[in-house]
Amino acid sequence: MDKLVYRFNNLGGTTDKKSKDVLGGKGANLAQMAKLGLPVPPGFTISTKVCEYFYKNNKKIPKKVINQSKKEINLIEKITKNKFGDSSNPLLISVRSGSRVSMPGMMDTILNLGLNDKTVIGLKNKTRNGRFAKDSYRRLIQMYGNVVLGIESHYFEELIENYKLTKGVIQDTELTEEDWDGLIKNFKDVVKEKTKKEFPQNVNEQLLKSIGAVFLSWNSKRAKTYRKINYIPDHWGTAVNVQAMVFGNMGEDCATGVAFTRNPSNGKKEIFGEYLINAQGEDVVAGTRTPKNLLSMSKSIPKIFQQLKKIFKQLEKKYKDMQDIEFTVENNKLWMLQTRSGKRTAKAAIKIAVDMVQEKLISNREAILRIDPNTLDTLLHPTLDEKAEKKVIATGLPASPGAASGKVTFSADDAERLKEQMQETILVRIETSPEDINGMHAAKGILTARGGMTSHAAVIARGMGKPCVSGSSEIKIDYKNKVFKSGDYEIKEGDVITIDGGSGKVMFGKVPTVKPDITGDFSKIMSWADQYRKLKVRTNSETPADTRIARDFGAEGIGLCRTEHMFFDEKRIISVRQMILSKTLEDRKEALAKLLPYQKNDFVEIFKIMNGLPVTVRLLDPPLHEFLPKTDKDIDDVAKELNMSHNDIKSRITELHEQNPMLGHRGCRLGISFPEIYHMQCEAIFEALAECKKKRIKLVIPEIMIPLVSTAAEIQILRNLVNNTAKEIQKKRSIKIKYYVGTMIELPRAAIRAKDIAKYADFFSFGTNDLTQTTYGISRDDSGKFLNDYVENKIFNKDPFVSIDERGVGELIKIATERGRLEKKSLKLGICGEHGGDPASIEFCERAKLNYISCSPYRVPVARLAAAQAYLKKKK
Ligand code: PEP
Ligand code: MG
Repeated sequence: MDKLVYRFNNLGGTTDKKSKDVLGGKGANLAQMAKLGLPVPPGFTISTKVCEYFYKNNKKIPKKVINQSKKEINLIEKITKNKFGDSSNPLLISVRSGSRVSMPGMMDTILNLGLNDKTVIGLKNKTRNGRFAKDSYRRLIQMYGNVVLGIESHYFEELIENYKLTKGVIQDTELTEEDWDGLIKNFKDVVKEKTKKEFPQNVNEQLLKSIGAVFLSWNSKRAKTYRKINYIPDHWGTAVNVQAMVFGNMGEDCATGVAFTRNPSNGKKEIFGEYLINAQGEDVVAGTRTPKNLLSMSKSIPKIFQQLKKIFKQLEKKYKDMQDIEFTVENNKLWMLQTRSGKRTAKAAIKIAVDMVQEKLISNREAILRIDPNTLDTLLHPTLDEKAEKKVIATGLPASPGAASGKVTFSADDAERLKEQMQETILVRIETSPEDINGMHAAKGILTARGGMTSHAAVIARGMGKPCVSGSSEIKIDYKNKVFKSGDYEIKEGDVITIDGGSGKVMFGKVPTVKPDITGDFSKIMSWADQYRKLKVRTNSETPADTRIARDFGAEGIGLCRTEHMFFDEKRIISVRQMILSKTLEDRKEALAKLLPYQKNDFVEIFKIMNGLPVTVRLLDPPLHEFLPKTDKDIDDVAKELNMSHNDIKSRITELHEQNPMLGHRGCRLGISFPEIYHMQCEAIFEALAECKKKRIKLVIPEIMIPLVSTAAEIQILRNLVNNTAKEIQKKRSIKIKYYVGTMIELPRAAIRAKDIAKYADFFSFGTNDLTQTTYGISRDDSGKFLNDYVENKIFNKDPFVSIDERGVGELIKIATERGRLEKKSLKLGICGEHGGDPASIEFCERAKLNYISCSPYRVPVARLAAAQAYLKKKK
């Protein structure tokens, strides 16, 4: 068996990363600090490998580890001149967990081990502080009782509270040695009553059981949940750190505190921390006493403050990152108890990274790798004021970041009406459909009871940069009575709620938000990212407003313009409906002719904004019934406007109904059945180019994209249609038009037959929303019902609609890339499914050698950074 017990000072591996795997984060950093010569109380780390062994061998600690631990304890005894279990000079130790990555508060810790009825007297005599000794002993019984013996903490807490009540005091600090004596007796009675055994007086038993308990806490419910949320593998296990105790609560020359080497909230280079004189670590965080600002320590204990300042510098130099530190001062001697990279806000992360480059601590490559791209979202949207009070009434999926408050409305039209009255609304729907688009535009945010991260509401909201909480199954919506219920809450139309699309929380009332400011550091990081990345970053956008936002965020083109979204505008939808309801080709052409100028103007606007950058226009994709009226009232309105009968419309709707619309008459199948529709769209694109030319607007080279192709024949036929239309317009307008024709790859067959398809395509764009749907055979709109069970049962690691399934969908992308380029070396390859904005998927796209990624406007900065990281990681 490998080495299993490591003395601090011994890093156990060659690199920091490796040593963290073996020693856990806390153990590796303690060892590192000891190696740097910093004052670390002596101790040792039991490796994570022992945790693995423990679980594989009936929860037993190997003999070898027990023996080695005893030897290490002997050494600590020598260094501290104390003895474990000795009644006159007792050594006290702590046993702490520590996994590879920090899991704050998720696992267990036991302090003050080594105290029993005899050693507590030794501690009292030695420190000449009976109150301190007894307080320490009761803390041990309480912690050990809870962590090792499984007795719920409240049994102990209640005893203290009742005692204080009888005595008429408020603070624990008001209890005397005698008071604690009585409570110790009561605590021991609780242990006896609950476990039918006495509190163990044997210190070696205390130690062994505590080590076992820390290993067991790796699999506690909260630790498992934390791992699931943070994608931490179950097999990593925790290390155990055993260390001599030091005390910050032995008198006025003692203290304890926590510190950050820089401000974790805004990133400023300043010492940031708190401390308490005569206290233990937990008192600082418990909030029973108000800690003091660490800067004031320069006056109260100046010598220690100066020493700390020096150490902070040393640690930053070593770790090249902001550190989060715990320390204790025992009788005027400083002890370092922990250091780790500190958690920080996105704003602070950016400032710290940029500053550290300027301070020559890190390179700009390292600065890029330091920032979690997903956190950038919080800088681009308004966020909830952290200090504000919040009453959470439901939770759902964090579908589109940002926070918004407004009056609850249950229909898109109401949202629009209220907007006209300058009122802010949250649109609450069971799920949204393309018909709700006007209301989604009008509302400040969207809340749905059904639908996953790629549901209609989620995709559209992200595209619009609007906050959205989707799939909040707790809420039960009653459209008829205009009310929704969530648990005991009943929210009526007009009541104000707040949604936080970053956390998925729904709150009652208006929670104030703050507008984050994007400082110069942000653009600096972005420009560094642009220097390194190879993947181009485009955006999915179809409105001038979104396109402008995306350009401001640095989009280098449009990767997906979903033309159907342009059809939902109030003035156009009637012509779209007329087109669909037409019985003859003539009638259909008449309706299409009405749509042509609208569509052309849209393209002119977008081409103008894109100023010569590539624009991928996708021809009509969704099944036609999506555009048709749903309610009887809507049908009546349409009937009146189109001079048709209610029944005529209803029967056409029945005709168009499909059992599986996602696999039905949609995508290029529409172009095959109704070539006049695609013809009109191409005409609009080319006419827009002609107009741009006339207006001397820099010409874009449109990339016309055919959706849902599965055979070469489909694209061959439709490419001809595009070419013929181009010829017509070239002739009509006497201009030369440059354009490309390509296809989406969103069906497994298209990926497999990529070589044939590439004959007729200048580019492929992977539509990974549909490709995931069709590869798994899982409906993207219904997956919410069982995705959680799949994650729970470890069938899925992550939602495959959020992060690309590399082994299945990814494999198809690789096949299509290889086969497509085999046919046509110049084939341009990109991705335009929602995965184009997901950092993990972007890393895959870099490895798969795609040319570009395309994502919703607000994800553009995220994608730029993630693309740079993907490249740098690949090179490492
Ligand atoms: C896709 O399927 O990935 C895609 C981009 O198209 P849509 O989401 O519009 O179906
Ligand atoms: Mg698709």
